[in-house]
Amino acid sequence: MSCGEPHETDCSEVLDHLYEFLDHEMPDSDCTKFEVHFEECSPCLEKYGLEQAVKKLVKRCCGSDDVPADLRSKVMGRIDLIRSGQAVPDQDVTATTAAEYPATAHEA
Ligand SMILES: [Zn+2]
Ligand SMILES: [Zn+2]
Repeated sequence: MSCGEPHETDCSEVLDHLYEFLDHEMPDSDCTKFEVHFEECSPCLEKYGLEQAVKKLVKRCCGSDDVPADLRSKVMGRIDLIRSGQAVPDQDVTATTAAEYPATAHEA
């Protein structure tokens, strides 16, 4: 996936290391490169927003990185809606899906 614009950091490199960026498992210099890329590149920013939303949601609901299968499928359903333009990324994913998990949703 690419927006067609030339970037200093290649889209494939950004997407390959997206989880390392999310987990802050990369040097600051690389983080800066990624941040610059997300400002320039809306397809990568969208992908990053989705992954970040899933991660935040899982952390909030479960307090761990393990994603229950039913929750994952709900989140994936949201992502399909976002991809097809029926929902807004990030806020909608977390807010709406978390609302369906009132028993487990709690703020730290
Ligand atoms: Zn990109
Ligand atoms: Zn791009």
